[in-house]
Amino acid sequence: MSSLRSMLILAFGAFVMSACSQPEVSAEPEAAVGYALAIHGGAGVIERSELDARTEAAYRGILAEALQAGRQVLQANGSAVDAVIASILVLEDSELFNAGRGAVLTHEGRVELDASLMRGEDLDAGAVAGVSRIRHPILAAQAVMERSPHVLLAGAGADAFAEGEGLELVDNEWFITERRREQLERAREADRVELDHTGSRDAADDPDRYFGTVGAVALDAAGNLAAGTSTGGMTNKRFGRVGDSPIIGAGTYASNDACAVSATGHGEYFIRRTVARDICALMQYGGLDLAAAARRVVQDDLVAMGGSGGIIAVDPAGRIVLEMNTPGMYRASVRSGESPSIAIFADETE
Ligand code: ASP
Repeated sequence: MSSLRSMLILAFGAFVMSACSQPEVSAEPEAAVGYALAIHGGAGVIERSELDARTEAAYRGILAEALQAGRQVLQANGSAVDAVIASILVLEDSELFNAGRGAVLTHEGRVELDASLMRGEDLDAGAVAGVSRIRHPILAAQAVMERSPHVLLAGAGADAFAEGEGLELVDNEWFITERRREQLERAREADRVELDHTGSRDAADDPDRYFGTVGAVALDAAGNLAAGTSTGGMTNKRFGRVGDSPIIGAGTYASNDACAVSATGHGEYFIRRTVARDICALMQYGGLDLAAAARRVVQDDLVAMGGSGGIIAVDPAGRIVLEMNTPGMYRASVRSGESPSIAIFADETE
């Protein structure tokens, strides 16, 4: 009897000990991974001397707001896809960035928007190109992914699809801001297709100044990755021009086997270099880690071609990489249990 009791006590003690030590053991990997989120609002020639304190504060404020919107989703155990969308919705609505309202203008003075979304779990993806009436192109990309048999819809067909899906439509005029009209005027005068930047007087002399595309990448608590990107493209672009942002593998890619990437930069180079997919492929087949893969594509391969810009990326272990070959990139990131970081200039530590 007494030996049975002591056995029970021993067994109970062992149970209590294992129950007590359990959280410590499992807390480690969870703390190491958890969720991770990064966002960008474009890369390019962003100089301290050209960004007054008020404007800089406004950029940092919106980045913080967009990051928080995505973070809330992840904190509530939401999906990486939903977190990416939540962050991009904030950035699309901000006139500071080249996406949604405040996007750059085509040669004719209209707005044509591109966006894409990819889910790393099953490689499902959706994108729209050259849309002109959808208030939130990232929601149209989601609708294409989730509610159509297609990956990419373009132009009037994409606008009509979004309408059929009940998404909010607006007049093209609604997207246009005075700042963008002036920027187009300058680009027209210089007779040049200009990448997004209006801040500086000599912007018209430098086609590679600032790309205001927005994007987000996320890892959720379930271990799934997602990436999304949204843009107005380039100022004074030919109508019908499509950049890398809606091209899966160029501006956006996500695979749970490797990483999730959203790019910003001179789209023609990013398309030819298949930037987002190359980074994932270097990890998947080349054995590189995320930092090495991103560095190679952004600093070596793109630079060798003359392509400027940057990427944000996250891998299944929650490592975040923010890589650019330009003097700056509007960016922010956060991981579970850590405080958010926001940065603009390349030499800022995240
Ligand atoms: N990548 C975009 C495009 O070429 C531009 C940007 O990043 O702002 O359309």
